Amino acid sequence: MSFDTQVPAVPRLEIRNMVRQFDGRTVVDDVSMTIQAGQVTCLLGPSGCGKSTTLRMIAGVEMQDSGEIYVDGKLICDTVFRVPPERREIGLMFQDFALFPHLSVADNVAFGLKGPKAEKRARVEELLRKVDLIRYIDEFPHQLSGGEQQRVALARALAPRPRIMLMDEPFSGLDNRLRDGIRDETLALLKEEDTAVLLVTHEPEEAMRMADEIALMRDGKIVQRGAPYNVYTRPRDKAAVAFFSDIN
Ligand code: ADP
Ligand code: MG
Repeated sequence: MSFDTQVPAVPRLEIRNMVRQFDGRTVVDDVSMTIQAGQVTCLLGPSGCGKSTTLRMIAGVEMQDSGEIYVDGKLICDTVFRVPPERREIGLMFQDFALFPHLSVADNVAFGLKGPKAEKRARVEELLRKVDLIRYIDEFPHQLSGGEQQRVALARALAPRPRIMLMDEPFSGLDNRLRDGIRDETLALLKEEDTAVLLVTHEPEEAMRMADEIALMRDGKIVQRGAPYNVYTRPRDKAAVAFFSDIN
């Protein structure tokens, strides 16, 4: 085996020893993880366990009390040095994905793009084709269904080619009937883009469907980490068994 193959790639995203307290209570408790480009990691755990706070610190909209964040091996945030959120090359998607109502679908997707108009237009068209919404390019958000708006929001988040995509319960506002289809489409599109995905969910089923790796979180800590099948078939303790027993 050559030396090269033994050296793991520098992770796209690495967080080390992240801690956050609110009112003296530790809600994120020494969380470390790495994600490679092209991978989807699901941060899975019950409501209130600290998932969103972890994501918000990576996005830079919440400060950690201690810990470091690295992108492609470069420090972007510790307790003294901090790259501002808008310069982190991070795409965000939340449950409340709120498109700009007064902007066309094209302008929504182009919103975070810089550069020549023709290039921006080409990127917008490329993404709208991928999410199968090119026919709505000049429509406005209110003319689209919830599922369609969600796909526009995905296109908008991916348009500037973010190095990292952070998604916080992005499908929970959607109708059950639509959800599986949109999860699959979203996953396919994420895999085509060169990005590392951290997807937060409290639904084991969603993590099983979408993750390359699951990081199981409880009381502010990552208690288990691994491929979905392994985490599901070899839960580490009774609490993990109980949590996964929701899946039908
Ligand atoms: P999750 O996303 O897993 O549901 P959160 O990260 O949103 O969990 O919250 C973790 C804990 O931190 C919860 O108990 C929540 O009430 C608390 N918390 C989150 N944000 C704040 C805040 N700004 N001020 C005080 N407590 C907060
Ligand atoms: Mg949350």
